[in-house]
Amino acid sequence: MAAAEPANADKQPLERVVIIGSGPAAWAAAIYTARAQLQPLVFEGAITEANRLDGTLPLGQLSLTTEVENYPGFPAGNLQQFLDTALPADERAMMAPHTGHGVSGPELMELMRRQAKNFGTRVVTDDIVDVDFTQRPFTLKSLEGTVTKAHAVIVATGARANYLGLPSEEAYKNRGVSACAVCDGALPRFRNKPLIVIGGGDSAVEEATYLTKFASRVHLIHRRDALRASKIMAKRAEDNEKIQIHWNSQLHEVLGDDKSGVTGVKLESTTDGAIRTQEATGVFLAIGHTPNTRFLEGKLELTPKKYIQWTTPQRTYTSVEGVFAAGDVADDYYRQAITAAGSGCMAALDAERWLAGQGIE
Ligand code: NAP
Repeated sequence: MAAAEPANADKQPLERVVIIGSGPAAWAAAIYTARAQLQPLVFEGAITEANRLDGTLPLGQLSLTTEVENYPGFPAGNLQQFLDTALPADERAMMAPHTGHGVSGPELMELMRRQAKNFGTRVVTDDIVDVDFTQRPFTLKSLEGTVTKAHAVIVATGARANYLGLPSEEAYKNRGVSACAVCDGALPRFRNKPLIVIGGGDSAVEEATYLTKFASRVHLIHRRDALRASKIMAKRAEDNEKIQIHWNSQLHEVLGDDKSGVTGVKLESTTDGAIRTQEATGVFLAIGHTPNTRFLEGKLELTPKKYIQWTTPQRTYTSVEGVFAAGDVADDYYRQAITAAGSGCMAALDAERWLAGQGIE
């Protein structure tokens, strides 16, 4: 829903570039535009219960993962001292203790955010809920009701985890059903109990592996007879004695009651439709993502899957001149932290050059 326009809307300062989002694409764009003296303003998202349930809190999907083993520059090693010196003490105090095994997703995001702030990026903890891209400068309205005008906008709002849409899944959200093992896996209800993970991609394998720390057994439910996950991740799941893979199976219903929450699931065979029951206190969905573009519908050209359409090869241009897109919000193919950061850098350079072409410095 669009936020109401405040009385002082016309007194809002005019920004050169506003960045919407707070994942690797957004922070890379902020670092580059800040160093180009464009004084970027980042809307990093709001801390609300709705965003928590949707998986769209500030710092994005990486803040919901564990170790990041494939972001170049962070081989396994103890980063304790680096984190203590790179981040202010108050930010450090809010973070989980460092594990000593290379960088974690939340650590990587805090480091990127800090790097962007070090170069003068201003950060607002609020969501952009409505935009007017029909006139320049563009107008952006936030959840808290502020109105910001901007010459250029970089959209880097990422994507969020999908659910299957079963009524029983909805009924037990927060009472055993989750799309984030890292956020919820350590809860007492999941300790030493059988747990279910749905999906066959890297996320499912990562979640299943993580949950073996807590669960008595993890049942990985996949609708086909081969994992989509990369070979190294798939092998990790297949070799883990605590993970049992159920091939050709899908979630039919989440079972539970008001007192206990989730108590089990009904699984359906995708080959013969047979239904069987599996005891579990938790069901973790890892079945892909949806881009965070709801506020852009009708404002920017989107793909059939609602990702922002990049309009020019090798550029971050969108259907509106002066609006650029970076990261998972425009990429349903690579979806890696490094590709998101790379496209954030590209969007910053595209915006910088476009602004210069408009005579805006
Ligand atoms: P993904 O690769 O799209 O996999 C989604 C999985 O969910 C697939 O196995 C798919 O089954 C299954 N699925 C989708 N809809 C379903 C439904 N309605 N019912 C049952 N199953 C359903 O998504 P992802 O695992 O979230 O990974 C996204 C991207 O992030 C990938 O590029 C991945 O490599 C990357 N990633 C990397 C790491 C890492 O390197 N550490 C960790 C996490 C994610 P099908 O296979 O049958 O289509």
